[in-house]
Amino acid sequence: MKYVDEFRNSKSARRLVEDIRRTATRRWVLMEVCGGQTHSLLRHGIEEELRDTVELIHGPGCPVCVTPADDINFAQQLALRDGVTLASFGDMLRVPGNQRSLLDVRTEGGRVRIVYSPLDAVALAQKNPDQHVVFFAVGFETTAPATALAALQACELGLNNFSLLVSHVRVQPAMKALMTAPGNRVEGFLAAGHVCTITGFDSYREFVERFRIPVVVTGFEPIDLLEGIRDCIQHLEAGHAVVANQYERSVRRDGNEFAQNAVNRVYQIEDCPWRGFGVIPDGGYRLRTEFEQFDTRARFPFDECRVIASNEKTDCPAADVLAGRLRPNECPHFGTRCAPDSPLGAPMVSSEGACAAYFRYRTTTPEKMPQNSSVSPEEAAT
Ligand code: SF4
Repeated sequence: MKYVDEFRNSKSARRLVEDIRRTATRRWVLMEVCGGQTHSLLRHGIEEELRDTVELIHGPGCPVCVTPADDINFAQQLALRDGVTLASFGDMLRVPGNQRSLLDVRTEGGRVRIVYSPLDAVALAQKNPDQHVVFFAVGFETTAPATALAALQACELGLNNFSLLVSHVRVQPAMKALMTAPGNRVEGFLAAGHVCTITGFDSYREFVERFRIPVVVTGFEPIDLLEGIRDCIQHLEAGHAVVANQYERSVRRDGNEFAQNAVNRVYQIEDCPWRGFGVIPDGGYRLRTEFEQFDTRARFPFDECRVIASNEKTDCPAADVLAGRLRPNECPHFGTRCAPDSPLGAPMVSSEGACAAYFRYRTTTPEKMPQNSSVSPEEAAT
């Protein structure tokens, strides 16, 4: 399979839907971890189509949604300091801290630049020696290698006007936190394919042995997701607690060793706060002491900049949405006080947020791929 059309083929999709219905003897509860998967499930009407057969709980895999408000507040204060330029990905600009977003701060005169890669921020620092460029480094294991490379490149160039405000988080510790949370109902996981492209699927072996639950590493196209659901249900029905790899075209057992080496060289694993979750053991990365010169927190002590109280807004129950305890459309503010144009919380802002996905695809007709849920015997045989 080479082209994306093959992963959106309606005939294959209908066959998979039928397979899933045939296999499931009861309604299983699965969690898709990644926000990109949530969007695809809703966009293509898969969640709706399989509603009677499988309950899909949406996981915390939206990186900007789980970035702590304190880090956003800090970034805002940095952007307002003389001689500092704050650079980040576009998604991060609209996410509110406690009171406002980086976009608001830019309107107030703060120096905020959108970049498409951390290396663009390094180049910005090279071109502007009179400015200190801070790259707001957010995201999961997928983006950490690129920011690690930025630190290594800045080191090689001897840049003294570049640093990283590191807010990287790690997916698997959050999955452990979910599994040990009171009232957890997750019976199987669709793990995020792009994260496993870096970490490798073998990284889930200990998780699976500890929690006795199947984990299927899954891609993002409709056929990927349907195969991931089918495989997960097959393992559940057979009582298998295994790691399976649906996303073979991208994920290998040991992952991307080059990326892992860059991350290990620059970062160390630490307990880390997740927005809505609190501190998660081993939940994120921090720069190693050898790279302290590129650590924004060491260059600009947080307390100097911290002028906004760190109490979270309580109006937005994002914590419950991120932990899968509340569906976005069950939130009392969904579509009324909270919409993409006037978001109360990060899950409505981010392009990977579950609330944004519900708003976008639950209020419009999804791109329904399985147009007819029944498969003829001829089709099933092909
Ligand atoms: S709909 Fe808005 S207020 Fe409700 S959880 Fe989502 S982001 Fe928060």
